[in-house]
Amino acid sequence: MIYNHQLDKFRITSVETLNNCMFGGNGFVALVAPSMKCHSYRFIKPKNSSDFPDDVIFVSVLHEDKYFYIGMIEERRFRLTRNSRFDEDTESVKGAKYLMDIANKPEVFKFTSMKMYHSGRCAVCGRKIRSEKGIEHGVGTKCLCKIRAKLGV
Ligand SMILES: [Zn+2]
Repeated sequence: MIYNHQLDKFRITSVETLNNCMFGGNGFVALVAPSMKCHSYRFIKPKNSSDFPDDVIFVSVLHEDKYFYIGMIEERRFRLTRNSRFDEDTESVKGAKYLMDIANKPEVFKFTSMKMYHSGRCAVCGRKIRSEKGIEHGVGTKCLCKIRAKLGV
């Protein structure tokens, strides 16, 4: 995805919203550096989710026009796995680690110079978000209760 100013509507302005987008199960986060360099990530619950602990999320990054798997989040830590398509010192992996880091640290989120955006689709069910409140939280109104219960907000 290319950054453009229309995205500002979907800017992630709270650490709660970032967590919704990363842990909803069907999430998207674009990370934009002050240089305007952009990385787009998908945070998806495993399809065969009974094979994995409940909190596992697979992370992939948009490269050209395809998503490539880069690693997984477990117990709120991002790590590479055998199938990761990029290694530790790539910007894509550093970006994913950075997102995990600021999702864990509200004080860092507050002062980051990076900007984050969601896609306008619900991070839980993937439907287009219709309400203002939903857009602010990165999830539709119906799914907001679910994700809040899950994340213990
Ligand atoms: Zn939803």
